[in-house]
Formats: sequence, C-alpha cells, structure tokens
Amino acid sequence: MIIISRRDFDSISLHASQSLPNEACGLIAGTYENGMKIIRKVYLLENKDLSPEHFSIEPRRQLACIKDMRTLNLSPLGNFHSHPSTPARPSEEDIRLALDPKASYLIMSLMEDEPVLKSFSIANGQAVQEELEISESEKGL
Ligand SMILES: [Zn+2]
Repeated sequence: MIIISRRDFDSISLHASQSLPNEACGLIAGTYENGMKIIRKVYLLENKDLSPEHFSIEPRRQLACIKDMRTLNLSPLGNFHSHPSTPARPSEEDIRLALDPKASYLIMSLMEDEPVLKSFSIANGQAVQEELEISESEKGL
C-alpha cells in the first residue's frame, strides 16, 4: 500500500492540469513504515518530451532530486505522470520503460471531471495495481 497526503495529491493534480495538453511527470520520495510506502515529498518536473502521449525526465534533474532525497533522509519511491485523455493505467510504453520492480508508478488521469490517481508496480512486463490511500490528515504523515 502507498499513502499520499491530500496536499501532495492536489499539487500533482495542479501540475498535471497546468501541463496540458501534455503529460506531466515527477518523482516521489518518502519512507517505508510497517510495510507501507508513505509519500513525503513530490518533485514536480518538466516533461522533456513535451508530448500528450509520453514523458521523460532530464537525467540531470533526476539526479538533483535523488541528492535532495538523500539530504532529507527519504527513499526514492517511484515516479508519477499524467494521462491527459486516457484512463489511469499503464500504457504499453509505460510498461516497457518501467525498469524498477520495487518502484511505485503513479498515473493520474485527467479524462474525467475529477482527477483519478492510481499506483502500479510493474515487473516482467506486467502491471499490478497497488492500493493507494489519500490521507486527509497531516498528522498521520
Ligand atoms: Zn503513461
């Protein structure tokens, strides 16, 4: 299970709508507690591809984020990207490009009125949805 605060959910959602018509992307970092992943920081990044159908992150930006995570004592948990007009599930390309079986791959769909966020783990060409909870309380996080 992975837990995200309402505030981080909202900032991903804002980033995703501001990036339209293109996909938005970023990294997530946090801690492992009682077998759960808790997102404590999201990095809103530029989609280098400027495309509505795929995304990539500048390696140098990614490295800077990883350094920041180390400074804050957070673990890299995975990444997120948006699907402007398709459902929140990994595309064939998303699956092909997912190289870390331990990572959480979050996808936010903007195809409906309300943004829908789902998380997946991807290994051996297979995406498995992971339970995602939006935490309304700041205290729990
Ligand atoms: Zn995708």
